[in-house]
Amino acid sequence: MNQLILKAGREKSLKRRHPWVFSGAVAKVRGKPASGETVDVRAASGEFLAVAAYSPESQIVARVWDWNERPIDRVYFTERIGRAAAQRRALFGGVATNAYRLLHGESDGLPGVVADRYGDTVVLQLSSAGAVRWRDTIADALLEATGARRIWERSDAEVRALEGFPPATGPLRGSREPARIVMGEHGVRFEVDLERGHKTGFYLDQRENRRRLRDLARGRDVLDGFCYTGGFALNAAMGGARSVFGLDSSAEALSLARANAQLNELAGIDWVGGDVFQMLRHLRDGRRQFDLIVLDPPKFAPTAAHAARAARAYKDINLLAFKLLRAGGMLMTFSCSGGVSADLFQKIIASAALDAGVDAQIIEHLGAGPDHPVALSFPEGEYLKGLLCRVPG
Ligand code: SAH
Repeated sequence: MNQLILKAGREKSLKRRHPWVFSGAVAKVRGKPASGETVDVRAASGEFLAVAAYSPESQIVARVWDWNERPIDRVYFTERIGRAAAQRRALFGGVATNAYRLLHGESDGLPGVVADRYGDTVVLQLSSAGAVRWRDTIADALLEATGARRIWERSDAEVRALEGFPPATGPLRGSREPARIVMGEHGVRFEVDLERGHKTGFYLDQRENRRRLRDLARGRDVLDGFCYTGGFALNAAMGGARSVFGLDSSAEALSLARANAQLNELAGIDWVGGDVFQMLRHLRDGRRQFDLIVLDPPKFAPTAAHAARAARAYKDINLLAFKLLRAGGMLMTFSCSGGVSADLFQKIIASAALDAGVDAQIIEHLGAGPDHPVALSFPEGEYLKGLLCRVPG
C-alpha cells in the first residue's frame, strides 16, 4: 500500500480541504509509488486524510483526488467527469454557446485536468503527474459524458515542465482534421486554431465580459488592447460601436481576428500589430481619445514572486488608458495573474487613476463565467479579475 505520512501538524490545510500536499510537509513515503500513482495521505497519527496522485518531481508532491477512502479507477473518473458535464449542460443548455469549460482542474475535483469544449471537439490539457497517468481513462470518460466526437490534447502549458513532463499535443481520439474549427458565443462566431491557438485555443473565461462590452458599445469609439483573435473588438462592432481599434503583438492572432471579422460580416475594424505599452504612448502623444477601452493583457505575474514587476506593468497601461478616455468614458480592465489578488489589482488601478489625474469610479466587478467555478477551499483557482471603471462625464 502506497502511503504519504505527513509531519506532525501538517495535516491542517488538508483538513480544510485544500487539495495540495507540499513536499516539505511529508515525513515518510511508504511503498514505492510511481509518478502519478495513487497514494493514501495520512497524518502523523496515522489518521486517513485523502487519496491523492503522487508527483515525485514536483514541489506539490501530491494532489488530492478524493477525501474518502475509495479506489481511483475508471468508475471514479466517469462519475466525476459526468457530474461536471451535467453541471455545464444545466448552465448552457446548448443555446448561448457551444464552447465552454468542462473541467476546471482542482475546482472540479480533478487537479491538473482542464478540458474545454468547442462544439464536437474537446480540448484536453493535462498538467500533473496524476492527470498524465490517467490520460486515456479521462479521454474516454469525456467522450462518454459529452457525446463529443474528438479529443484534442494541448498539454503544452509551462506548468507541466514543473512536474517533469515534456509537452504533448495533437489528436487523442478522432481525426486530426480539421485543426481549425468555428464556435459560436452569444451569436458571434470565432475560428479557433486547435494546434496553435493560446491555451486550449480561446479565452473562454471572458465570454460574459465580451457580451457585457457589446451592451456598452453603441455609438462609442472603442479600443481593444491585447485583442488576440478579436473577442472584445468583434463584440464592440456587433454592439454598434462608432469605431473599433484592435491591438495585439501577435501577427498570427491578428490574422485570425481579421478572418473572424469577415466570418461575422463586421467591416471597418482597425487591426494594428505592435506592443500595447508603446502604442498607448503613441496614441496619447497623438491626442487620440476613446469612449471605451478594454485591457486584457497576458499573465504578468504567474506567481506572487512576480507581483511587484507585474504591478508596475498593470499600472503603466492603465494609467495611459485613463489618459486616453474622454469625459464619461469607461475602462474595462483585467488581470489573469495568479500572483495578483483582486485587492491588489484594485489598488493598482486606483493608483493609476490617481496618477492620471482622473476621479474614476468602479461601476462593476467582473470575473470568469460560471463554467470556471472556484472551489471555496481552493482560492488559487480564481484567475480572472476585472473592473469596469468610469471617469466623470
Ligand atoms: N481579450 C482576448 C484575449 C487576450 S490574451 C480575448 O477575449 O480573446 C492576451 C493577448 O495579448 C495575446 O493575444 C497576446 O498576443 C497579446 N500580447 C501579449 N503581450 C503583448 C504586448 N506587449 N503588446 C500587445 N499584445 C500583447
